[in-house]
Amino acid sequence: MVDCCSAPGLLPFEQAMADMLAAIEPVTETEHVALSGALERILSKNIISPLNVPPHNNSAMDGYAFAYDSLKENKSLMLAGRSMAGEPFQGECLSGQCIRIMTGAKMPLGCDTVEMQENCEVDESNGGSILFLEQRKMGDNVRNAGEDIAKGRHVFEQGRKLSAIDLGILASLGVPTVEVFRQLTVALISTGDELKSPGSSLSEGDIFESNSFALAGILKKMNINVINFGVIADDAQLIKAAFEQADQQADAVISSGGVSVGDADYTKMVLEQLGDIGFWKIAMKPGKPFAFGQLVNSVFFGLPGNPVSAMVTAHVLAIPALLKMQNCKSENPVTLMAKTKTQLKKAPGRMDFQRGIFSIEKNGEMIVQSTGSQGSGILTSLATANCYIVLPSCQGSVPAGDLVTIQLFDHFIS
Ligand code: AMP
Ligand code: MG
Repeated sequence: MVDCCSAPGLLPFEQAMADMLAAIEPVTETEHVALSGALERILSKNIISPLNVPPHNNSAMDGYAFAYDSLKENKSLMLAGRSMAGEPFQGECLSGQCIRIMTGAKMPLGCDTVEMQENCEVDESNGGSILFLEQRKMGDNVRNAGEDIAKGRHVFEQGRKLSAIDLGILASLGVPTVEVFRQLTVALISTGDELKSPGSSLSEGDIFESNSFALAGILKKMNINVINFGVIADDAQLIKAAFEQADQQADAVISSGGVSVGDADYTKMVLEQLGDIGFWKIAMKPGKPFAFGQLVNSVFFGLPGNPVSAMVTAHVLAIPALLKMQNCKSENPVTLMAKTKTQLKKAPGRMDFQRGIFSIEKNGEMIVQSTGSQGSGILTSLATANCYIVLPSCQGSVPAGDLVTIQLFDHFIS
C-alpha cells in the first residue's frame, strides 16, 4: 500500500500494520477448560448444537394448555391434569379438556396453545372446569422446541472470544467443557534511568514509571498473562539479561522507551544483538518511533517511551497483533463519522490519532470535540477521551464543523 502523503522517510501506518500482522503467527496449542473458567477465552473449534434449545415445546406462562380447536365451540374446558416444569403431564389432552401448566413445563400431547391464568376463571361448581375469558391465537404463549437454537446449527465460530452470554448459551447446549487456544504470556520491560517505581522516592530529574501499569491493564483485559520485569537500569548487561529472560518466558515482549533516535540507553544495541528487529519511523502521531521484530522465541514490540505514544501504539498496533496471535477474530474497532465541534490542528505527513470526546446531540447529530492539548506526555487526554479522531496523512488542519472519522475506544483502553 502506497501512501503518497506520508512524510519522506516515514513508513505509512497501513504498511507498518500490514508488515507487522504478516509476521505474526497465531498460537496453535489448545486446551480443554471447564465452562465456568472459559470467560474471555478464544474458541479453537466451531460449536455445532447437539440438540434443540429449548429441547421441547413448553409454556411461556403459568396458565392452562389446550388444543386451539377445542376453544372454537366452548368457552370452558375440563381440567384433566397438570404439567409442571420438570414433571410433564403423562397422558394426552383430549378435545374439550385443558391442562394446568407452569412456565417452562413441557406442552402436553394434544395441546398447542396456552392461556395465562390471569385470563381464566376456575369454575368449582362444574367439577373443575376452566372458563377462558379471552380469545387466543393458535400457538400463543408456547415456546417451540429449537426456537432459540436448532439442532445442528453453527452456534459459534472458531476464534470467538467467549462472552458471559456465550457461556450461558454453551451451558444451554449441555456443554461442560470447551476447547480453547492457550493463553498468551507477555513480558513488559521499562527502560530509562529516570524511571522510578511508584512507592520509591524521586531524585532530581526522575519521574515515576507509568507505562507498564497501563500496559499491564490493557493486557489483563485481553486475558493475557503478564510478567512485568519493571524498570531495568541503563546497563547493557542488565538490559541484555532482562530481554533474554523475557524472551524465554513469554510469547511477546513489549518494552517502552529507548527506541527513538538519540537515545542514551543500550536498549537498541542489545535488541540488535538479540533478534531481528526493525526500528521503524511510522507516519503516525503520536508514536513515530516503533520497533517490531523477532527475538529468539518471541515477538518483540518496542513502544516509544512517551506515555500517550506508548498507549496509542500499544492500542492501535500491538493489540491487533496480539489478537491475531491469540486467534481472536471477534474484536473490531468501531469507526464512525462525526462533526468536529472544535478546530483540529494538524500538519500533513502523518496519520493522527487525536484524542476526542464523542457524543450525540439532542437532534441526533454525532459530534466530537478535542480533549485539548495533544502532547504525547498528556496521559490524561486518553483518560478523558472516548475515541480517536483519525486524520489521514494528507489531511491538514480541520475547521470546526467538518466531518471527521472517529474510532470509538474499545474496552481494552477504557
Ligand atoms: P524515550 O522513548 O526513552 O526517549 O522516552 C521518551 C519520554 O518518555 C521520556 O520523557 C521518558 O522519561 C518517558 N518515559 C519512558 N518510559 C516511560 C515509562 N515507562 N513510564 C513513563 N514515562 C516514560
Ligand atoms: Mg529513554
